[in-house]
This record gives sequence, C-alpha cells and structure tokens, in this order.
Amino acid sequence: MDWMKTNISTKYILLPKKLFIETLGCAMNVRDSEHMIAELNQKESYELTEELSEADLIIINTCSVREKPVAKLFSEIGVFNKYKKEGAKIGVTGCTASHLGADIIKRAPAVDFVLGARNVSKITDVVNRKHAVEVSTDFDESTYAFGEYRSNPFKAMVNISIGCDKSCTFCIVPATRGDEISIPSSLIVQEIKKAVVTGAKEVMLLGQNVNNYGRRFGASEERCDFTELLQKISKIEGLERIRFTSPHPLHMDDTFIQEFASNPKICKQIHVPLQSGSTSLLKAMKRGYTKENFINRCEKIRALCPDATISTDVIVGFPGESDADFEDTMDVLEKVRFEQMFSFKYSPRPQTEAADFEDQIDNALSGKRLTRLQARHTEIIDEIMDAQMGAVHKVYFDELKPNGRVSGRSDDGKLFFVQGSEELLGKIVDVKVIKTSRGALDGEVLQV
Ligand code: SF4
Repeated sequence: MDWMKTNISTKYILLPKKLFIETLGCAMNVRDSEHMIAELNQKESYELTEELSEADLIIINTCSVREKPVAKLFSEIGVFNKYKKEGAKIGVTGCTASHLGADIIKRAPAVDFVLGARNVSKITDVVNRKHAVEVSTDFDESTYAFGEYRSNPFKAMVNISIGCDKSCTFCIVPATRGDEISIPSSLIVQEIKKAVVTGAKEVMLLGQNVNNYGRRFGASEERCDFTELLQKISKIEGLERIRFTSPHPLHMDDTFIQEFASNPKICKQIHVPLQSGSTSLLKAMKRGYTKENFINRCEKIRALCPDATISTDVIVGFPGESDADFEDTMDVLEKVRFEQMFSFKYSPRPQTEAADFEDQIDNALSGKRLTRLQARHTEIIDEIMDAQMGAVHKVYFDELKPNGRVSGRSDDGKLFFVQGSEELLGKIVDVKVIKTSRGALDGEVLQV
C-alpha cells in the first residue's frame, strides 16, 4: 500500500493498489479473471489498470490447451519482470499453473505465486504469501460466493460447474481443472438475478460440459438436470437471453433439444464440438459418440429449429488419422454446414493418453489438411453470410465501438455493427442487414 504525503499538513492518503491482469484461453478463464478482480478489489483494495508500469500486482491467467500458450508464458514472464515497477508482484494462475505448479517458480523465480484453475477463491491468500503454490485439482469451490465484477455490465457469464469428468485422450482439462462438480442451482439463479439488477439482459452459462449438469453436486443433495436448470433460469424476470457453452454431443437427448428449440429465452445458437468426423478416431479420442450420432443430433436441432446456428471444434492430425478419416471430417462439414468452426492441428499435451499414441501425424500433413478444411469452411461461411443481405434480426447491443458504431449479437449469435450511440446499449432492437462480410454484418436500426 502506497501512502502519499500532502503538502498542506502531515496527512496520509491511502493510494489504491493497481492490478494488471492478462487473460489467455477460454470463457471459463475470463470468468475466473473476473472472480479474481472482484476478490482482490473487495478484499485487498486493488483497482484494475491497463498500464503494466503502474501495476503493483501482475497476473497472467494461463491456458494449456495447446503447447504454444505454454511456451509463450515464460517469455512473457521475462518481459513483465523487465518492465514492472519496483516491488510489483507477478502471479501465474489458470491451467498452466495447475499442470506445472512449483516448476514455474523454479524456472522463473521472479514469479511470486502460482494458483491453479480450481483454486481461484484462494487469490487473496496467495497474493500475500511469497512463493505460494496452490494447485490442488480436488479443491471444491463450487459453493464459494465470489464478489461481484463483470467486464461488460450488459451481459453476464456465470459458471454452472467446475472441472470435467470426461477423459478425451487429447485433452489436458481434466488434469488441470479436476473432476466435474455442478454448482447448486440456487447459487446460479441468485448470481444471475444480481447481474440482471445491474443491467445484464443476457447470460452465458459456462461449464466444460454444461448439458451434463446435475450429475454430481459438492455438498447438496439437489436433483436438477440441465434442462430443468434452463427452465429455472428462464423464470428470472428481466433476463431475456440465455446462451451456454460448451455442451457435449453425448448429452444431447431429445428433451434437451426440445427445450433448446421451444424455450423463447434460449438463444438459437449452439456449440456442438465434433473434434473428428471419423467414428474410429472418435473412439480413439474417447468422445463416446459416432459420426452418425453426431449428424443425427445436428439434424434434430435443424429440424426443430431451422434458424439455429451450429458451431463446432475440430482437430486435424490426431494420431492415426488416415486420409479416409479426414474425408469423414470433410463429409460432416458438408452435411452440417457449421456457421462457425474452431479448428486446430492436434497438439500433444502432457498428462494425456494420446500424447503417447504411436503413429503421430507429420506436421506438414496436418497443416495441409487444416488448410483444406478451413478453405472449404470459408466458402460455406461466405455463402451463409451473403444470404443474410436484407434480413432482419433482433440484436442485443452491448458494446460501444470507435467511429460512432455500436456492436451486438443477434439471437443466433451473428455479430452486428450499426451506427449509433450508447443509447442503444442494453437494448434488443430490430436491425436490417445492409452489408455482409465473413465475420460480421453491418445493419441499420429499424426500430428502437
Ligand atoms: S469434454 Fe473432453 S474435450 Fe471437453 S474439457 Fe472434458 S476432456 Fe476436455
């Protein structure tokens, strides 16, 4: 804590400490960062800064899903250590903290503490303990009520579970975030109600497998599955839009898809992670479904909800992937025509089965397959977006942009930009598409 001496009389003013936080990776990490900001502000009087040089505390909230972010971590620690102000602390949190633990301090002694992805509620403890390492993946903070902070007041992200019970052979998440525990629905509803009071009309429900919700709670004996949770949340007054990520194809039963299609508050945008179109590879990945199952679920969604948009994740170059396997992935792309696709080359991760699989695929071949997949997907996206010309959507505006523009998303998740002012923020209005592009649509507001 810095004190500043006034020149009128010997009076001291408490200067707030400054926090600089960098968040890498997924929406769960963004929400974990919001939790840390809230705890540090409310219990340790830290205020956010974008200026590294004025920070008293620097946090890097890390991601481990691929090798690249991990390699980047140590060079970043070096840069932060070089440019930080004297006496400032550096903390490493998130998934890389969970899997590297104390090794981070061994490799980079400038790091003051290491806090794993399942120990976020301990942030105010470790910040005051030199070289503290808290990386347990058994720690249960599913009922911990974090302080309030949201990076965008118009939309709330709310965790509904922590960890993951699956064992996909390529994925490091179970090793860094631990077993899956659902957060009691009363805490979730309470948190959303608070967010609505402060201006959020939209909520994004977060979990590694949201539609597996309710399988296990920490303390409570509650019985509530995901469809029931959605119904409970839909009753919250003032909440108009519900989004969620990420569901698992394995838990997409007809009841869930029916609720998705018929519940007016649920946004008609759904993420269905495929990973591979080949049934034999899906088996080697331990995904638990086949190519046919996957297509069947997507067809069911499209049948009940023709305007819904479907996004997905795809890995190319998984060990053992043959040309025929890859053609299966291309075939699913043709059949489902995803409106959005996150696609990557397979990256062997520590503490995962597939890292030890034989027949690892040559990097150049993976690269060639990724290029072909993304090129075909780009063609599909262009067709989908061009067809939007003149369409009218209900858009929820939540961000001011430079040049007198405001951005928001339609119910089906498309990104919109219009000319307008902050008056539009927090409103759902009719917008007509006047210009299309691959990643976003320009529109004109029809009626506020
Ligand atoms: S479901 Fe599979 S891919 Fe998703 S977080 Fe769990 S282990 Fe990873």
